[in-house]
Amino acid sequence: WKISSSSSMVIGTCHYSTSTNPSSLRVRNLIGGEFVDSQSTATIDILNPATQELVSQVPLTTNEEFKAAVSAAKQAFPSWRNTPVTTRQRVMFKLQELIRRDTDKLAKNITMEQGKTLKDAQGDVFRGLEVVEHACGMGTLQMGEFVANVSSGIDTYSIREPLGVCAGICPFNFPAMIPLWMFPIAVTCGNTFVLKPSEKDPGASMILAELAMEAGLPKGVLNIVHGTNDIVNNICDDKDIKAISFVGSNTAGMHIYSRAAAKGKRVQANLGAKNHAIIMPDANVDATLNALAAAGFGAAGQRCMALSTAVFVGESKPWIDGLVERAQGLKVNAGCEPDADLGPVISKQAKERICRLIQTGVESGASLMLDGRKIVVPGYEEGNFVGPTILSNVTSDMECYKEEIFGPVLLCMQANSLEEAIEIVNRNEYGNGASIFTTSGVAARKFQNEIEAGQVGINVPIPVPLPFFSFTGSKASFAGDLNFYGKAGVQFYTQIKTVTQQWKDLQTQGVSLAMPTSQ
Ligand code: NAD
Repeated sequence: WKISSSSSMVIGTCHYSTSTNPSSLRVRNLIGGEFVDSQSTATIDILNPATQELVSQVPLTTNEEFKAAVSAAKQAFPSWRNTPVTTRQRVMFKLQELIRRDTDKLAKNITMEQGKTLKDAQGDVFRGLEVVEHACGMGTLQMGEFVANVSSGIDTYSIREPLGVCAGICPFNFPAMIPLWMFPIAVTCGNTFVLKPSEKDPGASMILAELAMEAGLPKGVLNIVHGTNDIVNNICDDKDIKAISFVGSNTAGMHIYSRAAAKGKRVQANLGAKNHAIIMPDANVDATLNALAAAGFGAAGQRCMALSTAVFVGESKPWIDGLVERAQGLKVNAGCEPDADLGPVISKQAKERICRLIQTGVESGASLMLDGRKIVVPGYEEGNFVGPTILSNVTSDMECYKEEIFGPVLLCMQANSLEEAIEIVNRNEYGNGASIFTTSGVAARKFQNEIEAGQVGINVPIPVPLPFFSFTGSKASFAGDLNFYGKAGVQFYTQIKTVTQQWKDLQTQGVSLAMPTSQ
């Protein structure tokens, strides 16, 4: 992959240098520490979303290969769980160093397969890296509890033990960050892992796996398989897999949640979203509009925490014009071009879906303030580009509001009061993120108290918590009860064993069949 340097500022130069050897395009499985070609002849083409060039081919891992991956993870578990936590942490210390070393390589791969801008792709890597850094403190994070002398000469303590083989199923939109939400925490807790990256952009996962091997992760501790529905169903059904981490859409997530739960597995599932911002008339106009444009159109709106709906309260309604101006100023280009603010969306189908949802808004009475559907990017005419799009006078019965659009489309609604705005947000089924822009502490506190969303921003447009907290989407944006990373993440990947021990000079006593009580 290279950016041509022959004519430095000429557009249309971010081309993937395709290998002449087709077998080198095939993405491999990672089974028992070996990167191996799948026997499968069924593959999915990965196309660069800016150019449609073939980047790689993902095999649909066969059943036998899947079983081999689970078996490798199962075999690696006993010795890995007995490896001192300090040693497991040291692998993470090394991994974070290697991810820093190879951030550019990872980011370039993400831009090529997923489309986002290089700078944004670096952020994707960095936010995952922070989880690896957090895992370096596992000795403290995994501590149990101890109460001495619960009865005379008797102490009780609890131990957080790993579960065994865990699995992760990833979406396309954060090819580095989301795998890094999963396996570093799981394996540092002492589990072994089977990862299924998104079939749309598995490249970053493969690079991360190479780095994990280089960092000293023993063979079989991390395994990678590929595919779509069938392999996901295998993961749900396999008796040796104890827990599943899923991030993606509600359709897939709820299917996985119920199928895996029926097999007795624990599941944490981060799902879809419709994130709102409430704009109060006392907010700082410039800072607010800049934040709205960045949160609405960054990553072409393909973030689960992207801002999709802005609710303007009272006299802030006319600010929509300023938002349109800012959105018009954003540069749509291939993600590898240095001037790109937003890149293409993931696929032609995604573009068609986004354009159809914009059209439903127009047909049901919304005003199209800015239309990005017809954009053509010189040099990248084949790219899946959608320019920033703004619909105003949107109401909550419209399809474009009810559906997650997952594109660079910002819907604008209006409310006469903060109460009315909060009611609008709370009526929405999703509860991933919500923000308020205001200079009033009273309004902010009321919002924080009454809003039904798991991640709240006060003058912060994308309130994604750092790894010492957890990612806490709620309502239809999350299924399960232990969130990703933070304390809850460690709890998800561990089970508690509680030990009651008696060490004293034991007196011979008669047989008592009464329920023991503390003495
Ligand atoms: P997706 O649900 O289509 O795919 C996610 C994973 O599920 C993939 O690995 C895919 O192979 C698998 N899958 C898809 N359909 C399946 C089915 N019917 N049966 C079994 N497995 C299936 O999601 P996506 O398009 O890759 O990602 C975008 C979605 O992810 C959006 O809804 C976005 O909001 C959500 N997301 C949520 C968060 C969060 O933290 N809440 C973060 C990122 C993305």
